[in-house]
Amino acid sequence: MSLNNTPRGNRLHIGIFGRRNAGKSSLINALTGQNLAIVSNTPGTTADPVYKSMELHPIGPVVFIDTAGFDDEGELGKLRVAKSADIIARTDIAVLVADGSAPDFTYEETWLARLEEAGVPVITVLNKIDKPACISSEVFIPSVRVSAKTGEGIEALRKAIQDAVPEEYRQDQLFGDYPVDGSLVLLVMPQDIQAPRGRLILPQVQTIRELLDRKCTVLSTTADGITKALDSLNRAPDLIVTDSQCFSEVYKQKPPHSALTSFSILMAASKGDLDTFVKGVHVLDDARTAETFHVLIAEACTHVPLNEDIGTVKIPGLLHDSFGDRVRIASVRGNDFPDAEGLKQFDLIIHCGACMFNRKHVMSRIAAAQEAGVPITNYGIFLAYMAGILDKVSLH
Ligand code: SF4
Repeated sequence: MSLNNTPRGNRLHIGIFGRRNAGKSSLINALTGQNLAIVSNTPGTTADPVYKSMELHPIGPVVFIDTAGFDDEGELGKLRVAKSADIIARTDIAVLVADGSAPDFTYEETWLARLEEAGVPVITVLNKIDKPACISSEVFIPSVRVSAKTGEGIEALRKAIQDAVPEEYRQDQLFGDYPVDGSLVLLVMPQDIQAPRGRLILPQVQTIRELLDRKCTVLSTTADGITKALDSLNRAPDLIVTDSQCFSEVYKQKPPHSALTSFSILMAASKGDLDTFVKGVHVLDDARTAETFHVLIAEACTHVPLNEDIGTVKIPGLLHDSFGDRVRIASVRGNDFPDAEGLKQFDLIIHCGACMFNRKHVMSRIAAAQEAGVPITNYGIFLAYMAGILDKVSLH
């Protein structure tokens, strides 16, 4: 990812669904005015969903997800269809493209129902209206009629996408309603080896950007520099945002009137559901007497775990300290995540801040956990709970 680009997790995810050769890839090209997707006259060219990040005027940063045709055939075809179905969980707006010259709309009706059932706003598009054979259907009534080839109807489609943008994308992402505007904020940054040399990781970059947008004065330090940083100020910071891994140290040193939160909690509030995560961690209240306790640690990053990794070392260490041999820990990374049935074997899911995912994706995981009846929490809330200060951190 270039440092100049909006991260994918903060982009509006627009899923393009349709049969093979309904003109999905050509439609993306017509919308963007660029030759972004592979276009072929051979049905089934798009194998895996393809992500294309770009600026879509006047919406802003989006990522188009070009999916495989849902009428794909054979063993491999079925796999491709399953991958397209997975994309629903992270789609903010679906564009369902039908070939206007298709003999019927059975597939489209099925997928329309599927997308609507998942609560995804759907824009139905009848493509190839330039063809004489283009028919309309009483069952599949398109929101927009277009020709990706001639460009007819593309502006109307762009407008339909703009109108369908969920409200949360128009608002601030991290601090929400928290009254942070104009505050003095101290950031206690992680010193862990995961931050690439010369770089800051995404949650810190996003926090700094939003605080500056909200006219805050921002001072950054590391855990071993808190005293020096506080001494350099002529008043206590209004808010301290810390790396979750040093909650206890920061809490001990913080001035009484400074509110405290963590990067991970900010992520939990903006990308997930803070109340669910706080409720979820309290399953640990009763777990101390359990015979066995099964935990799933889920991380959105796909990086190879490093020494001192929070998900593979720190959190498992704390769990073992509390539960000894009675705790069983499994972990998943990236897009791997069990379905509701697979989740049932766990007593708790501990998820990372998921800065790489969009909110829709995190909310889909929360929904799967709830369907399975398994509590879910996130790293920051778990660490605050284990440090015994969950009730002392500012949650918004
Ligand atoms: S582990 Fe999660 S929160 Fe941390 S950088 Fe990766 S995606 Fe973001």
